[in-house]
Amino acid sequence: MKITRVESILLAVPFEDHGGIWRASGDRKVFQTLMVRIDTDQGPSGWGEVFTKNGELALKALFDTHVAPALIGRDATHIGAIKRDLEKQHHNFGRVGVMAFCVSAVDLALWDILGQAAGLPLYRLLGGATRTEVPLYASLTRYGEPRAVANTVERAVRDGYGAVKLHEVLVDAVIASRAAAGRDTALMLDTNCPWSLAEAKRNAKRMEPYDLMWLEEPTWPPENVHALAALRRATSIPIAAGENAGSLADYRVMFEAGAVDFVQPDIAKAHGLSEALKIAALAEAHDVQFMPHCFMIGPGYVHTLHLAAALEVPLLERYYVELAAEPLGDSVKPNGGRVAVPQGPGLGCAPDPDAIRLYRVE
Ligand SMILES: [Mg+2]
Repeated sequence: MKITRVESILLAVPFEDHGGIWRASGDRKVFQTLMVRIDTDQGPSGWGEVFTKNGELALKALFDTHVAPALIGRDATHIGAIKRDLEKQHHNFGRVGVMAFCVSAVDLALWDILGQAAGLPLYRLLGGATRTEVPLYASLTRYGEPRAVANTVERAVRDGYGAVKLHEVLVDAVIASRAAAGRDTALMLDTNCPWSLAEAKRNAKRMEPYDLMWLEEPTWPPENVHALAALRRATSIPIAAGENAGSLADYRVMFEAGAVDFVQPDIAKAHGLSEALKIAALAEAHDVQFMPHCFMIGPGYVHTLHLAAALEVPLLERYYVELAAEPLGDSVKPNGGRVAVPQGPGLGCAPDPDAIRLYRVE
């Protein structure tokens, strides 16, 4: 099954989050997704996603010029060989970062093609038992002011979410959120790498009474796994990290340092679904809970959904915002804190042509 055509499509989809202060793209409230489509000579077209954040036309150009041409004529079912060749060819661009994001997208699209060729939904192809839905946690954008955070937590609980993650740095936001959530809602805090080890120890001590399920990326820089390990020894709050690591070898160092209770690889950053399966196995051997990061609204979100269904991940991350359109269609839209697992072959869904027409960035 030969690859005949490769295309990347950048979307910027507006969202509403009722008072959030997070902006990925200038002053506008938009989520971007850089989607990748790989066509074959035998029918199946697969979709992947490159991790994106802001103004990613440069990233699209990198994919279009350095990655897409290398795929033409390759056998789409040779996923491991294609991934390895791309990685080796570009390893001196860095093993963490934009080239790894591009390789990840290719790996994801090829798994979609393989699922279609096999006639199996991706989660079944990965060995999962039949599963119709996966519970989500509401991953809030940043609100800053504790009352505004707590109001959004209340809204998420009303919408049916049993678990809510904050993106905040104030201990007072945790206190207000626990009061708003009640005792039965799981609460997590993602700080996005703000603190020194000493600051993290002080803040963690103050947050211990509020029953956090985990504290995510509390220290700077993210690759200092020894600081995370020292914090983990000093606090009773479980530690989560991993969205900024690039490959299996990075996760080995993280696990051997005793840095995390929850590991959060992002399949659109850390070399795709193929790498995630290895990381999940290694995590299991180290008694670390595999809990993939998911910042995506495009195909990568559905890939992560299939991975979560296959590996029985207890909760999948989903941004708690109202999107102007669900890029992969309303069948994968969250509903009451859960999402249906597509049952068709491969991803079981594809980008909505209307969403592409309305929100494409050229
Ligand atoms: Mg995070």
